[in-house]
Amino acid sequence: MEKSMRLPLLIAAALALPAHADTIIDRANGYTLNAAGQLQRFTSLAFDDLGRIVAVGSEAQTAAALPKAEHIDVQGKTVLPGLIDAHGHVFELGEIASGVELYSPTSLNAAVKAVADFARTHPKKAWIVGFGWNQEIWKLGRFPTAAELDAVVNDRPVLLHRVDGHAIWVNTKALEMAGIDKSTRDPAGGKIERDASGKPTGVLVDAAMELVNRVVPLPTPAEARATLDVALAQLSKVGLTSVHDAGIKVVQDDIYRDYADHGKLTTRIYAMIGDTTADFDELSKDGPLKSYANDVYALAAVKLYSDGALGSRGAALLAPYTDMPSTKGLLFYPDAEMRAKMNKAMKAGYQVNIHAIGDAGNRQILDAYAALIPQHNNVGLRHRIEHAQVVALEDIPRFKQLGIIPSMQPTHATSDQNMAEQRVGHERIKGAYAWRSFLDQGSRIACGSDFPIESPNPFEGLHAAVTRQNNANVPPGGWYKNQAMTLTEAFRCFTLDAAYAAHQENVVGSLEPGKWADFIVVDRDIFKIVPEQLGKTTVLQTWMGGRRVYSRR
Ligand SMILES: [Zn+2]
Repeated sequence: MEKSMRLPLLIAAALALPAHADTIIDRANGYTLNAAGQLQRFTSLAFDDLGRIVAVGSEAQTAAALPKAEHIDVQGKTVLPGLIDAHGHVFELGEIASGVELYSPTSLNAAVKAVADFARTHPKKAWIVGFGWNQEIWKLGRFPTAAELDAVVNDRPVLLHRVDGHAIWVNTKALEMAGIDKSTRDPAGGKIERDASGKPTGVLVDAAMELVNRVVPLPTPAEARATLDVALAQLSKVGLTSVHDAGIKVVQDDIYRDYADHGKLTTRIYAMIGDTTADFDELSKDGPLKSYANDVYALAAVKLYSDGALGSRGAALLAPYTDMPSTKGLLFYPDAEMRAKMNKAMKAGYQVNIHAIGDAGNRQILDAYAALIPQHNNVGLRHRIEHAQVVALEDIPRFKQLGIIPSMQPTHATSDQNMAEQRVGHERIKGAYAWRSFLDQGSRIACGSDFPIESPNPFEGLHAAVTRQNNANVPPGGWYKNQAMTLTEAFRCFTLDAAYAAHQENVVGSLEPGKWADFIVVDRDIFKIVPEQLGKTTVLQTWMGGRRVYSRR
């Protein structure tokens, strides 16, 4: 990834939630979508004390529908449906704010210094954990090493996640605690970086990360709640009223349900169970949880991984990497094992959402869906492929034929633009981040960000989707601009079609009677400004279920 991401670390203080009352928003410059995905205008929005929309239209229409309502005048400001991120990692977003920030350092020395500073100011932390390093922008030409970390912290374990989440960089203490040495073999689907003598050098890729991750102590319930609070504040601040959490365990489900019970879940969460192992067995006892606490929470999907990421060359390709012909990347599981997992999830009635980045990863999953969906007769579960990042051109139509939703992240394209083409070359790049090809064949794309790998700000996603430029408007003219979306299409992918991907298009995703009053007030008319400014849009207010959950000071 070329763009370093800076997460907003300043969190707006949580606002007291006002008591519910029948409410009418007046003098709005309002936009929403009809079921066909066409833009509709309104100036007034009425919702009842439960937070359900009663009327959308003119002031006269809403006043007639709810005569006793309280009125709020937004003075011509732009009002939009709350935006939806179809793929994010909520607790991880919060964790980043409590660890070493490695997105900003532009050199190895600066990164090591950030670790040293953090260790000094956090003497009580048993593990120093950090996020966001990227050796590509350091122009090192190699991975960093444990020795470089040992020079600043050698008495406590250090564990630093790469920007794409597919590699970790650790110090010698962490290697020792994990019992990793010369004799440790690379696990299936993973790689331990080594020197010429076979000694681990401190970077572990994909499945090898688990060797260290499994010795990291789990957060206490109190720590996990504090992490969620930080994340929820960030999500409301950027105008997200729903997020699809791409992989949770029992502990997170417990917290989500508790937050939902107590009105503290200020962003709707549609969660995917991470893998089909012990947590799935526990969480799936009563089958999919389609809706909980007024659609604030749902747990009806399973998240699986087919392969790794492009940056660390863990994505599985059909032919060798252009910039490293000795490798084609790694499939995490042989076909039979992957299908057994999918089968288990499908048997229990879950939507299956599978991470697939490389063209071989995508093909493995498309082939598996082609076999399993007819067997279970469950195309109605709206199975998904998460990322669908590099797809063989002949495989793109199969998404439509099989009824698979491509769940894609526009900012991945603009972050990866230089790296991706080095990895896959000029030919395969034609099926990479190919939103236009998916839209033109009639696929509904569920848009998201994959935060915290990218910024959670959906306006940066809209910006990337429309301009094929990053937030600094690089490159001029856009990267493979022929694959850009129109703004209306991108808006739909971040609202109605993301809702569709969670079976929630009848309750959220647009502003119409009967749906929840999930909406945002923003500082500019995104349909009138030049697209190059989309990413600069600022959220002034966020409302979820008729409650104001964020207000900019
Ligand atoms: Zn993800």
